[in-house]
Amino acid sequence: MTTPKNYLDMTRPEARDILLAAGHKAFRAKQLADWVYGKGVTDVAMMSNIPASVADDLSFLTSSIAARTDSRDGTTKLLLDLHDGCQVETVLIPSPSRVTACVSTQAGCAVGCKFCASGLGGLQRNISSGEILEQLIHLRQASGTAPTNVVFMGMGEPLANYEATVAAVRAIIDPERFGISARRVTVSTIGLPAAIRRLAGEDMAITLAISLHAPTDELRREIIPSAAKHTIDEILSAAGEFYQARKREITLEYVLLAGVNDAEHHARNLSRLARRLRCNVNLIRYNPVESLTFAPSSKNATDAFINTLRENGTNATLRQSRGSDIAAACGQLKTGSRG
Ligand code: SAH
Ligand code: SF4
Repeated sequence: MTTPKNYLDMTRPEARDILLAAGHKAFRAKQLADWVYGKGVTDVAMMSNIPASVADDLSFLTSSIAARTDSRDGTTKLLLDLHDGCQVETVLIPSPSRVTACVSTQAGCAVGCKFCASGLGGLQRNISSGEILEQLIHLRQASGTAPTNVVFMGMGEPLANYEATVAAVRAIIDPERFGISARRVTVSTIGLPAAIRRLAGEDMAITLAISLHAPTDELRREIIPSAAKHTIDEILSAAGEFYQARKREITLEYVLLAGVNDAEHHARNLSRLARRLRCNVNLIRYNPVESLTFAPSSKNATDAFINTLRENGTNATLRQSRGSDIAAACGQLKTGSRG
């Protein structure tokens, strides 16, 4: 007997071909999709119209929940064991108008931003598109609610795992799979110009968020080691191509670090950069990470920063931090290995 292949790693035609080759009827493909994508059911024993032998050829979940934490504000964080012992985290953030899933794209992260927990242990490995999509299924099963929005803002750098990220986005926006509108999907990147240009060529009207965090190359290099490789100008040129090709607004993300990047001149320079592509700026409150020495900006400094951006014609919002009491907030996701 061959090892079953992971269903969520496949397109619908690929899954159908495997079923046909194994001697199943073509209509099984549609029935399976109804169970997995439509209802979030992954246990073949629970699929009343599916023969158990389908499990010989296809597996539906390769990861399992190692730990679950529920925040006072309704946020749920799951720590998942992948098949080889690597771990990733995924978070569900319900609000009155939407249910947002925050997914990881790598176990660990090679970028090593100085303020982020995800990069502390370096990169363990890329994860597959199926392993990204399993996070949506686990969140749905754990909460009983299907996500309506997906943000690629968990652990890892999505564009450093390009193929898997794009395959996962395609499954998420495919009306016959997860069926979530592309407008409700955001990919956040530290800014890899070549990959951003490539993404501009994909037929996907998703939102692109660039983690800028500093308005000058000099400061950016201090807090983001990989910034030594790409200037802000290169990143924004690539983002401009994405904007031109996809006609989707770009968001600049900026985590406010007290005394580091939160002065008035930083806000003025940031606004100048944002105007270039008419970007929105999404300010993020720094979530303290154990062993890191940064501090969040004060309320006064944060308000002043937002005002300066707005006075300079830039649309700015402050991201509500959810789940910080369970270390599920931005930049607090950490990984480890079993055993
Ligand atoms: N690697 C990608 C996506 C994951 S990080 C990226 O960096 O864009 C998602 C967001 O959380 C980024 O904007 C990141 O800069 C931010 N973040 C990282 N560490 C943080 C921290 N300690 N507090 C608040 N936000 C943080
Ligand atoms: Fe990696 Fe993003 Fe964290 Fe930087 S902020 S270490 S790119 S996950």
